[in-house]
Amino acid sequence: MTSAVVVGEDSDTQDVGNLWWRTAGAPLAAEPLEGNVRADAVIVGGGFTGCSAALHLAEAGMAVRLLEARSIGFGGSGRNVGLVNAGLWLPPEKVEEALGEAVGRRLNAALAAGPELVFSLIGRLGIDCEATRSGTLHCAHSQGGLDDLNDRLRQLRAQGAPVELLDAQETAARTGTPAFHGALLDRRAGTIQPLAYCRGLARAARDAGAVLHEHTPALDIARDGEAWRVTTPDGSVTAGALLVAVNAYGRPATGMPAPAYVPVHYFQIATRPLTDNLRRGVLPERQGCWDTAPVMSSFRLDAAGRLLVGAVGSLEGPGARWHRAWAERKLAALFPDLAGIDLEHAWCGRIAMTGDHLPKILRLGERGVSVFGYSGRGISPGTTFGKAVAAYLVDGNERALPCDPVDAHRERLAGVKQAYYEFGASLTHAVGER
Ligand SMILES: Cc1cc2nc3c(=O)[nH]c(=O)nc-3n(C[C@H](O)[C@H](O)[C@H](O)COP(=O)(O)OP(=O)(O)OC[C@H]3O[C@@H](n4cnc5c(N)ncnc54)[C@H](O)[C@@H]3O)c2cc1C
Repeated sequence: MTSAVVVGEDSDTQDVGNLWWRTAGAPLAAEPLEGNVRADAVIVGGGFTGCSAALHLAEAGMAVRLLEARSIGFGGSGRNVGLVNAGLWLPPEKVEEALGEAVGRRLNAALAAGPELVFSLIGRLGIDCEATRSGTLHCAHSQGGLDDLNDRLRQLRAQGAPVELLDAQETAARTGTPAFHGALLDRRAGTIQPLAYCRGLARAARDAGAVLHEHTPALDIARDGEAWRVTTPDGSVTAGALLVAVNAYGRPATGMPAPAYVPVHYFQIATRPLTDNLRRGVLPERQGCWDTAPVMSSFRLDAAGRLLVGAVGSLEGPGARWHRAWAERKLAALFPDLAGIDLEHAWCGRIAMTGDHLPKILRLGERGVSVFGYSGRGISPGTTFGKAVAAYLVDGNERALPCDPVDAHRERLAGVKQAYYEFGASLTHAVGER
């Protein structure tokens, strides 16, 4: 088995290791900001959230400037698994318990419709991003995992979601591996090439009139009279409305709230494209899969037939060799015919996890918010929150938002929790699948 090149997660040349950067087509190549300009709204961060907001603001007739420190999709949006899921990782009843029934229901309803929003945008805007809508499979790694899925099934059905629980045999037929006790099939969901989707949103925003600037970090964010002023290395944007959408990839800027989340690393490896012979039986309907294990893992195919396996863990730290070795063993355990296959790509990224696993909308001031903490989801939530925040920024009416904004958010013991996640994943991967 040959190993792929791993590139530092903060590297500007991440395209060497990250499959999505290799297969997303041409980058946007948007010019950095030069000079002092005015706009109706300024957005900091060019991931799903910022690009969706830019698109919907521009479509509402607002003059928009989007500032991205590196390139569009540099953060989590260009590194993720590509599972377009409905809802959050937290099941709907827990969301209602945490937020209260009214707000919880509002958030659950908005995120239940997330995949429909994503796939309808892909269709309407003609985004070429390997979109496949054959559902996702949440796979039970144990009997306890299956019990959890049964409970999720009950909760999701109560919401009217088109989900079904597959038994072990049906799961084996859909995945191509007998490794699971069953699986929850969610037909609303699907998979995409996430970076291509993010760039597609950005291009559509530009076509609708938004002005995008790459390699333009916000250095300072401040009130300037009745407006917001965002200062960059070679200029500034003054605007009546502000969205900060930097999630787990925030680069420091004065006046921008310090990150308040637990960074959790997730890595992926990808094989070379499987031959027809090897492909036979592997995910014949191309569902994206993840499991119920405490240290979660995922697998899916891309359009070229590469198999991607991912799990919690960092490819940067001391646990990297265990994570990689585990991924190779996992691949062989799931699909014995693929043991020893060449690996072409390996990369990782940071997830912004909040203590209650709920996203946050932080009020920064008059028509100014920061959105973060999707806690492991983000394609549907980022697109949904971006659209909703756009509606809010137009007139400042908070009722457009999918959950209530807060004035402050603190994350206690973030460093300790981060170490706990990484240590737990390293330990699990050091001994797992042997
Ligand atoms: C490895 C991995 C796997 C995942 N898998 C899935 C999945 O399968 N399905 C799913 O739904 N979600 C998944 N997620 C979560 C999802 O990718 C994120 O929640 C989502 O990308 C967040 O989008 P965003 O736009 O809010 O932030 P990001 O995409 O992180 O974008 C933030 C941007 O802000 C820019 N920025 C930061 N600071 C500044 C500054 N000062 N000035 C200007 N720009 C700045 C950054 O460069 C970055 O491009 C995964 C995440 C990771 C890391």
